[in-house]
Amino acid sequence: MVAVDLAEVSTEALMAEIQHRLDCTRKPEKRIILIGPPGCGKGTQSPRIKHEHCLCHLATGDMLRAAVAEKTPLGLEAKKAMESGALVSDEIVIGLIEEATQKPECSKGFILDGFPRTVVQAQKLDEMLAKRGQSIDKVLNFQVPDSLLVERVTGRWVHPASGRSYHEKFAPPKVAGVDDLTGEPLIKRKDDNAETLKARLGAFHSQTTPVIEYYSKRVVALKADRPQDEVASSIAQAL
Ligand code: AMP
Repeated sequence: MVAVDLAEVSTEALMAEIQHRLDCTRKPEKRIILIGPPGCGKGTQSPRIKHEHCLCHLATGDMLRAAVAEKTPLGLEAKKAMESGALVSDEIVIGLIEEATQKPECSKGFILDGFPRTVVQAQKLDEMLAKRGQSIDKVLNFQVPDSLLVERVTGRWVHPASGRSYHEKFAPPKVAGVDDLTGEPLIKRKDDNAETLKARLGAFHSQTTPVIEYYSKRVVALKADRPQDEVASSIAQAL
């Protein structure tokens, strides 16, 4: 975590943060899953949902990429599958989520982004939550036709530390190649190319769409091929 000198933070920003934390104490707990193909906008919508409902945002793809970058044993094991567009093993991602959901920033609940991606992962998640007396409240199904995803994914730029994403045409950063908030460089993900996307979409349709059926009673379908603000208001209604 980056140390911040509070003397340099404006009084307005500090007060807004305190007010937000007070508001958060009154929010009900929520546990949400975001499901959708690569490039459907889950990562883009997550910061708003996180702020509004005081949740933590857990993206297994971001966690795995961090492990690959740090060359941890888990990262080394996951790397090959990720680069080919296949899924990594259920055990690896279940372990990551089991640990992450217990962090203090998840005390009001969580947004799961990119997990569960198989029915086995969903079953294990439900078992884990049941042991804690918890359950999933809503599953948001981001629907975007495959034909739109190639341009969305191949034009994407990412800030690895935060998971913030930009698009060179649809949502460019203020300065090309640089994150708006930190000024740090943006990167292109290795798997954001047309060929790997085919494999990732294949995995989504064969292994992840059954998860939507698994949660059928709690699923809300969202037309996610619309402008960001329209998708955001549909999400606000759904939650
Ligand atoms: P994402 O950032 O969600 O597009 O994920 C990038 C890659 O990480 C995927 O193509 C998979 O190889 C891997 N991955 C992320 N989440 C999972 C998961 N829940 N189960 C298996 N593999 C995953």
